[in-house]
Amino acid sequence: MSMLAVLRKILQEVHAAGDLSAVLEIIVKRVQQMMNTEVCSVYLFDPLTEKYVLMATEGLNPEAIGKIRLAPSEGVVGTVAARAEPLNLEDVTAHPSYRFIVGSGEEQFHSFLGAPIINQRKVLGVLVVQQKRRRRFDESEEAFLVTMSAQLAGVIAHGEVTSGLRVDAGSSLQVRQDARYDGVAGAPGVGVGTAVVIAPLANLDAVPDQQADDIDTELQRFREALGRVRHDIKVVGRSLARRLKGEEQALFDVYLRMLDDNALAGEIEQQIRQGQWAQGALRRVVQSHVREFELMDDLYLRERGTDIKDLGRRVLSCLQENGSNIPTQFPDQVVLVAEELTASMLGEVPIDKLVGLVSVTGSGNSHSAILARSMGIPTVMGVVDLSTTTVHNQPVIIDGFSGRLFVNPSEQLHRYYDVIIREELQLSKGLEQMRDLPAETLDGHHIPLCVNTGLVTDVALALVRGAEGVGLYRSEVPFMIKEFFPSEAEQIDSYRRQLLPFAPRPVTMRTLDIGGDKSLPYFPIDEQNSSLGWRGIRVTLDHPEIFLVQVRAMLQASEGLDNLRIMLPMISSVVEIDEAVALIDQAFAELIEDGCRLVKPQIGVMIEVPAAVYQVRSFARRVDFLSVGSNDLTQYLLAVDRNNPRVASLYNSYHPAVLAALLQIVVEAHKENVQVSICGELAGDPVGAILMLAMGYDMLSMSSTRLGKVKSAIRGITLDQAQLFLDTALSFDDPQSVQQALGQMLVDAGLGRLSRPQLQS
Ligand code: PEP
Ligand code: MG
Repeated sequence: MSMLAVLRKILQEVHAAGDLSAVLEIIVKRVQQMMNTEVCSVYLFDPLTEKYVLMATEGLNPEAIGKIRLAPSEGVVGTVAARAEPLNLEDVTAHPSYRFIVGSGEEQFHSFLGAPIINQRKVLGVLVVQQKRRRRFDESEEAFLVTMSAQLAGVIAHGEVTSGLRVDAGSSLQVRQDARYDGVAGAPGVGVGTAVVIAPLANLDAVPDQQADDIDTELQRFREALGRVRHDIKVVGRSLARRLKGEEQALFDVYLRMLDDNALAGEIEQQIRQGQWAQGALRRVVQSHVREFELMDDLYLRERGTDIKDLGRRVLSCLQENGSNIPTQFPDQVVLVAEELTASMLGEVPIDKLVGLVSVTGSGNSHSAILARSMGIPTVMGVVDLSTTTVHNQPVIIDGFSGRLFVNPSEQLHRYYDVIIREELQLSKGLEQMRDLPAETLDGHHIPLCVNTGLVTDVALALVRGAEGVGLYRSEVPFMIKEFFPSEAEQIDSYRRQLLPFAPRPVTMRTLDIGGDKSLPYFPIDEQNSSLGWRGIRVTLDHPEIFLVQVRAMLQASEGLDNLRIMLPMISSVVEIDEAVALIDQAFAELIEDGCRLVKPQIGVMIEVPAAVYQVRSFARRVDFLSVGSNDLTQYLLAVDRNNPRVASLYNSYHPAVLAALLQIVVEAHKENVQVSICGELAGDPVGAILMLAMGYDMLSMSSTRLGKVKSAIRGITLDQAQLFLDTALSFDDPQSVQQALGQMLVDAGLGRLSRPQLQS
């Protein structure tokens, strides 16, 4: 077998293992076999004692497990960890760091090869092989061990975290107290409630464990679903009978037999009788069989795993036919958990019960996080280690300030967060009182504060909070929660609901910005590199029928109100502006011909890709206004996917390169006497808002939940002070120093309460 095949096989086996200790046992056994060594051991770092502990071994005295404990740099293993590089020694006893450990049985082994296990820059442990004979391990052996430990690092890290949640043999859960999962801050605030997992339909692997409400009902539902699948298979088998050869025909019989009571069905029923709901029992049984088959060397047998998976999927879709991936009843305080949070999921839970959102994928600037922010629901994104199959119905606390989720929180943790919830409530009450006061500095400089909207509910909230208009209406949001493209009439209706309540204040409507992480269920765009792909204006120019209907709807909705502004997303060339403007002109002319009484709307473009930064003046000459999308601009300038939790710490709008671009944009736009605003998340940050004010931006647009804090910041300083903030920001060459210095300045200006609470680590 090739090395790659061996590696793949070990990984498969490891992935199928139940918990961390099983993972480690498999590793030492297989690596020892594969490399034909006498010893293979794994040491893992124990953060409590700060020592590397022998966790599993094949070849050393098993009694030493848990007992050999080495400090970093202590012994040869500690040296591998401290240097974070492999060590290949002909005779380990000759190494200056060698330490003889009584009772380990190590003394007979001379040759030593150790590789550090590193995940996300952290040395988690060391993987070691040893032999009696004095010899240096050869290059290919070293390469194998290094590759193995690199591959295993992620699995081990995941296993360490998930071992906080343990599933026992039956279906009940035993959960460690205060099990903590780190993610990325999505929307600020703290939510205390019960986790409710919404799994995507027809995805067996995502089905959560759940106690059956009523075992008999679950059994009955399962049998019904099974009956339907058996029936379908028979029908298909019969209809193909004449066209299939005998042995292919036999496959249908195999399928039917797999579903027999003394095969899969029996096992599933047994799980249900132990208290697991039907979907969870199905997942558990199917997964365990699939794993067994996948480990087999024989290709034919491996394929049978695929058959079982297919059968499982069929039964699941029967079980889910009445939408039963969505719970019928919700606890009073729901923390919604999903593998990938989507806009439509938000509509599944009664809004008065929703206290928090958690997404395993995505990052702080993913669109679902932005949506959550506008709804004011605390959110944590990118909780990559969370297993959605085991967290359902568990009590949780989510901390949307620091991006953390706690499962099964203790009394003490509850008390800690109760204080924060109270403080935040007080602050927001204080901010509400500023609603009718102007957004102007202590020395009287006014800067209009507008809002970003998407849902109809945003409008009411924005008006209550004193917004001066809409700086960004994300028109794709209503598209995302539908099942097909909305008709022209439907669009007119939803646009009117944005335009009317604000009139005569301006409402800036952005044309459809789909692609990237925003996809429509009925118009999927599946691309390898979606943020650089078919996105925003690129899609709508290729589909003028969609663009024209949307623009016609916007124009008609504005009849008699005359407060519409149209904005184009993701523009990277003047050609796109010219083409889009021509289409808007066409729609306008047609409607005038039809007798509509319209005023020509202002047209603007978003500056959100680097190319646009360098062409601000050319763009400005073609349109009436510009608006900076700092979310995308940051992503593209820094080459950091806004949606990827692995690089979330590199995504920072205070990066000097981003600040330099923002300053250049406003200076260039003003040379053409064109107004420029900013509608990315930076505008909703009190410090960001102060910088934009000092740079000369003409308007700031943010989610309405941010209005209070931003207005409070602006009313708390003078223009000169803001200029000082800007000068300071521009004097550093790394984002962390910028943020640190500005955070301190905010405190010095007496505005410290406006910065996000920084919680204990
Ligand atoms: C932006 O990119 O900053 C922006 C406002 O648009 P969106 O977040 O919808 O991409
Ligand atoms: Mg954008």
